[in-house]
Amino acid sequence: MITTRFAPSPTGRLHVGNIRTALHNWMFARANGGRFLLRIDDTDAERSEERFVEAIRADLGWLGLAPDGEVRQSERFALYEARFGELVAAGRIYPAYETSQELDLKRKIQLGRGLPPVYDRAALALSDADRATLDADGVRPHWRFRLDHDAAVEWDDLVRGHQKFEPATMSDPVVRRADGSWLYMLPSAIDDIDLGISHVVRGEDHVANTALQIQMFDAMGGARPTFAHAALLTGAEGKLSKRLGSLGVDQLREQGIEAQAIRALLARLGTSDPVEPLADMEPLIASFDFARFGRAPARFDEVELAQANARLVHQLEFDAVAARLPAGMARAGWEAVRPNLSTIAEAADWWGVVEGPIDAVPAGEDADYLAAAAVAAEAIEWDGDPWHALTARLKDTTGRKGKALFLPLRRALTGRDHGPDMAALLPLIGRERAIERLKQA
Ligand code: GLU
Repeated sequence: MITTRFAPSPTGRLHVGNIRTALHNWMFARANGGRFLLRIDDTDAERSEERFVEAIRADLGWLGLAPDGEVRQSERFALYEARFGELVAAGRIYPAYETSQELDLKRKIQLGRGLPPVYDRAALALSDADRATLDADGVRPHWRFRLDHDAAVEWDDLVRGHQKFEPATMSDPVVRRADGSWLYMLPSAIDDIDLGISHVVRGEDHVANTALQIQMFDAMGGARPTFAHAALLTGAEGKLSKRLGSLGVDQLREQGIEAQAIRALLARLGTSDPVEPLADMEPLIASFDFARFGRAPARFDEVELAQANARLVHQLEFDAVAARLPAGMARAGWEAVRPNLSTIAEAADWWGVVEGPIDAVPAGEDADYLAAAAVAAEAIEWDGDPWHALTARLKDTTGRKGKALFLPLRRALTGRDHGPDMAALLPLIGRERAIERLKQA
């Protein structure tokens, strides 16, 4: 059974980068008939907030990435305590008493000597008597996971290919603070085993953590999951800016970006497949494959997202958007304006143009022409195709053609120079309003 998990810390809203991670996990599970879990990483009580837990759930729901199950780390402390006790008993976790100032100083000295700033394991050299003295002095230890230096850590990453780390070049990671609180690393590995996570899919900023966590899986006798570390997002012009990096679902929604457009873009970003603004996820899921992911950073471009959104909106059927259209706007209205929209909300602007009132554009030199157009509009047949009837008649009577024929009419009828096809729009504006607007121009 394939099981993936998305594990955000509820310290803020979901942003583009972690939406992408959620999407990869969701798609991989869907593509393989597996399960997709939401794990709320809220061991840090100070920084975690309930409103963000709620926002994460709501955002995933809106994105169409609802999980098949949810767990919260804050409800699983008893399990962490049990595994921790076993690892301490097995000598794989040990107490360390250095203060952060002492550790800083050690690092500076190592760096000064041109050595890598790896923890020297001084705490492992303490005798029972040393520890008893420290404990009696009230010094509370923090806890480190003792890496096994004997063999390299290796795995075949679904995105990055074969990976190899030498544990001796890494510090024994601190897994628990002196106040008893948990750092991210160990609870995550415990949960991955306990929840039967088959695939850990996350950003490449976690690659070094994976090397450490693989040793934790082994130390606990758990099966190692398969790993996929996607290349990180960058901005169109290099590093992802703070603003772009923190762009959240709420802001994207306010901009009129549809969930389907976000999914369609983020599903393909950084892969060898082109972005296709498909409203339906099935083809995207069917073609999802980590082998198609590149190792180079994936460029996230807001302009590309806006374009994908517009292309998506142009495909949406009336029934899918009806509830979000202004009252009175029916299928013909939607179909008339749809090709001109960047967002669904813009449909209301065009509906305002249909219903009026519109901003009158001074007729200037076209005043006589528009007066003639008003007369023609009264004479033509409105049931069929009034726009072609009107322009054909005016072409005959005035000799105008092209832009000189069409643009003054568009301006007088819509108050704008550009917009949806007039042949579709004019029947919606209707005879009375059209004649009125032409007369007023
Ligand atoms: N809470 C961690 C993060 O947001 C989870 C990383 C993981 O996927 O293991 O970075």
